[in-house]
Amino acid sequence: MPSTSPLRSWVASANGHRDFPLQNLPLGVFSHNGSAPRSGVAIGEHIFDLEAALAAGVFEGLARTAVEATRGGQLNGFFQLGREARVALRERLLELFTEGSTLHGKLEAQGAKLLPLATDCQMHLPAKIGDYTDFYVGIEHAQNVGKLFRPDNPLLPNYKHVPIGYHGRASTVRPSGTDVRRPKGQTLPAGHSEPTFGPCARLDFELELGIWIGQGNDMGDSIEIADAADHIAGYCLLNDWSARDIQAWEYQPLGPFLSKSFITSVSPWVITAEALAPFRRAQPARPDGDPQPLAYLLDPRDQASGAFDIELEVLLTTESMRETGLPPHRLTLSNTRHMYWTVAQMVAHHSVNGCQLQAGDLFGSGTLSGPHNDQFGSLLEITEGGKKPIELASGEVRKFLEDGDEIILRARCVREGFASIGFGECRGTVLPAR
Ligand code: MN
Repeated sequence: MPSTSPLRSWVASANGHRDFPLQNLPLGVFSHNGSAPRSGVAIGEHIFDLEAALAAGVFEGLARTAVEATRGGQLNGFFQLGREARVALRERLLELFTEGSTLHGKLEAQGAKLLPLATDCQMHLPAKIGDYTDFYVGIEHAQNVGKLFRPDNPLLPNYKHVPIGYHGRASTVRPSGTDVRRPKGQTLPAGHSEPTFGPCARLDFELELGIWIGQGNDMGDSIEIADAADHIAGYCLLNDWSARDIQAWEYQPLGPFLSKSFITSVSPWVITAEALAPFRRAQPARPDGDPQPLAYLLDPRDQASGAFDIELEVLLTTESMRETGLPPHRLTLSNTRHMYWTVAQMVAHHSVNGCQLQAGDLFGSGTLSGPHNDQFGSLLEITEGGKKPIELASGEVRKFLEDGDEIILRARCVREGFASIGFGECRGTVLPAR
């Protein structure tokens, strides 16, 4: 039964914190005062330094094994340990930080050595990413974009049978806060029959859920749909920055290439399955007439609880809005419920041919748009490919992103009777082409 009085922490800023109350406890990699990147846990306005805590002797048993695997500035080893170690660490962290903890005095006495303020720290990528794959499971987005590129044929016939994806570029995934250099490339301007080369004129964002892979599989083996959830280490926000003019010219027949690989931004905190447990939902029933998934993609437990209810938000600020103190403009309020395939289905499908997944691999869900204009997860959809510019409080208009614009992604989980948790932010500011 839901608790009516959620657990409280002696870390005062954690109680009621928008993103990181005691119930969340996401892991990440940070540095403080010029330190080497090290693992930590977000709690309220602070970061709990796991490596310093390990040295202080507050972990034993499986929780200690888990923390030892986070050392070295990347969480791949911890991801590879899987669920049991992650749960042992979470239980120990709950013990340490709940109000009345016997270790409260010992931990607090070490002050910023153990619990620096997050604002004094720099965040890094949480893992060394071997491979990055971007899916296309947001069906509203697939339909909206399909209409723009192929008005007569929006959803291709494979969509409802195959979780569509493409192999992205791991080398250019960056943590929130990294600037986005406007890419240059080859485009075919409207009305022309020959391409030109120059800065992207139709720069866009994509609102996506990021998925961190935990235990992988050997090449030649596959991950069964019933086991797939246990191969996920956690979740983040992902902005799949997109150069729409480059994309439109290059994407056929093999899919996106240089239009996507210049940067992909992720929020730095890894939100665990345990923190998200209260926000799981049944996968929405498929509309009448849609095919049932093939057996290798169908698992009753996954259908009953494999979806999430996570609010997703996109905010835009321009240089002039920031200078004049105007608040960010909300472009989008969407939700992970608009996924046609579950995360477990993505994992099962990705590995069904024997493709090896490895701890620290990253998936993007694909753009998660809702059915209405204020729920669209890209400017391509919001402005209908630039035909319907949006007006901002500053008097500026936007079809696509201009230099100096900043995009902020946020996510929040809310359910009556449970503490709300968030993902933190995924930010990026557009710089002029070089
Ligand atoms: Mn994408």
